[in-house]
Amino acid sequence: MAESVDTLFVHAHLFTMEGRGVGYQADGAVAVRGNRIVDIGSTAALEKRYAPAERIDAAAHALLPGLIDAHMHTPWAVVRGVAQDVAHWMQKGLAPFSRHLHREAALAGTWLALLEALKSGTTTLGDYATPIEGWADIFAAAGVRAVLTPTINALPPGEMAGWRMGDLYPLNDDVGERSIRDAVAFASEWHGAANGRITVMYGPQGADMLTLEQLRHVKRLAASEGILLHMHVAQGDREIDQMLKRYGKRTPAFLDQIGYLDEQLLAVHLTEATADETAMIAYSGAHMVLCSGSIGIIDGIVPPTVEFRTAGGPVALGSDQAAGNNCHNLFNEMKLTALFNKIKFRDPTIMPAWEVLRMATIEGAQALGLEQEIGSIEIGKKADLILVDLSALNLMPTLVEPIRNIVPNLVYAATGREVTLVMVDGQILLRNGRLVAIDEAAVIAEVQQRAEEVAAELQRDPVHLEMALLQPMRAGCL
Ligand SMILES: [Zn+2]
Repeated sequence: MAESVDTLFVHAHLFTMEGRGVGYQADGAVAVRGNRIVDIGSTAALEKRYAPAERIDAAAHALLPGLIDAHMHTPWAVVRGVAQDVAHWMQKGLAPFSRHLHREAALAGTWLALLEALKSGTTTLGDYATPIEGWADIFAAAGVRAVLTPTINALPPGEMAGWRMGDLYPLNDDVGERSIRDAVAFASEWHGAANGRITVMYGPQGADMLTLEQLRHVKRLAASEGILLHMHVAQGDREIDQMLKRYGKRTPAFLDQIGYLDEQLLAVHLTEATADETAMIAYSGAHMVLCSGSIGIIDGIVPPTVEFRTAGGPVALGSDQAAGNNCHNLFNEMKLTALFNKIKFRDPTIMPAWEVLRMATIEGAQALGLEQEIGSIEIGKKADLILVDLSALNLMPTLVEPIRNIVPNLVYAATGREVTLVMVDGQILLRNGRLVAIDEAAVIAEVQQRAEEVAAELQRDPVHLEMALLQPMRAGCL
C-alpha cells in the first residue's frame, strides 16, 4: 500500500548538495509532506512507495535546494540604478534619494526586490533594513523564508546632512538606545514567526556607527537571547578612517578586542580587510557574506573570500542593494563570484562552479546558522526547492557522460529566468514561471508610482545638485 505524500517530484536531475560536492542523482525523486522533505531516491523506487496528491514531472529540469541570498537591503530597489560609476557612492549617489524615501516607497521597493529574487530561485532572503511598519509583513504574506535584520545605529538623521568627509560621525546616545529598543521589540514579535519561516538577527550596522557602550549592549543581548549578529565589517576606507580616529585601531582588531569575533557574527563585505585580518575573523568561527556584484560596482574591489574560505569559514552570497548592484539575482552573484576571483588570482581553477553553487545553498545556510533546516535536499529538512528548465536555449544541451555539464551551465549561462517552479516550506509559490498568489502587475505599478514620487521630491531639493551622476547626465551620457 503506497503512502500518501503531498508532492512527489520525479525524473529530475537532482542536486542534493549533500557531502562535499553537489550530490548529483540521475532520474531523481523527492517526496514532500507538509513543509518537510520526507524521502529522496530514484524515481522508480519513490513512485512505488508513494501516492502523491500532486506528481510533478521534472524531466529535463535541475531540482535544487532553494537559493539563499544572505544580505539584501530591499527597500532600495525602489531607486534601482541611481548610484553607479561614481566615487563616494553613499554620499554622492544614494544619500540624496534616502532623504525622500518615504514609507510607501520603501515597502514598494521591498516587494519589487522580493519578487525579483523569488522568480530567480531565491527562497531565503536575508534582508537588512530599518524596521518600518509593514516591512516584515511582506515576507510573511509572500510565503518566502526570511532572515530579517533590523538596522541598529546611532546616527542622527538631521545631523548627518551636515556631516563632511573626514569628520567623526556625530554618534548620539538617544538615537542608538532607541534603535536597540526597536530591534529588541522587533525580534520579540518576529523571531520564529510565520510558522518559523521568519527569523531575526541583530544588526549593528557597522563598528563605526554605534558607540562602544551600545556595541557592548547589543553583544550582551545577542549572547543572552541566542540571536545572531549581522554586521558590515571593514566595508570601506570611510569606516577604517572613523575607527582609527575614534579608537586608534582598524575594525578587525577593534572587534577582536571587544569580544565580537566568534560564531555569533555574520560579517558582511570585509572589503578593506587584509589577508591576516580575514584569516583572524574566519578562525574565530565567524561567518562571511560576499556581495560580488555590489562591491564590484561600488568599490571596484573583490573582497577576500578565497582567503576566508581557505581559513575554513563558510561564506554566503548576497545581492546587497539594487541602487548599486543592480539586481537581486543569485545566478548573477554566482557567475560574478566565480569570474571575479578567477580574474583576481589569474587562475581558472579558483572558485569552480560547484563551489559557488554551494555558497548559494548549503554554505549560505551554514553562514546564517540555518544548516539544520535548509540549504540542501535531505530527509527531514524544510521543503525549499526549485526547478530550473534545462531545455532553455542558453542551457542546452544537457550532458551527463562522460562529463556532466549541468552545474557549469547553471553558474556561467543561466540568468534566473529558467526557474520554472519555486517551493518554500512545502508551498508552491511559482509554477510554470508564474507567481501563484502574488499580483505581479500590481507590484510593478506601485513601485513605478512610488519611485516617481521620490524622484519628484528630490528634484525640488537643492541637494540633488550635488549628485555625481549629474555631470554625465548633462554631457548626454546617461
Ligand atoms: Zn549592506
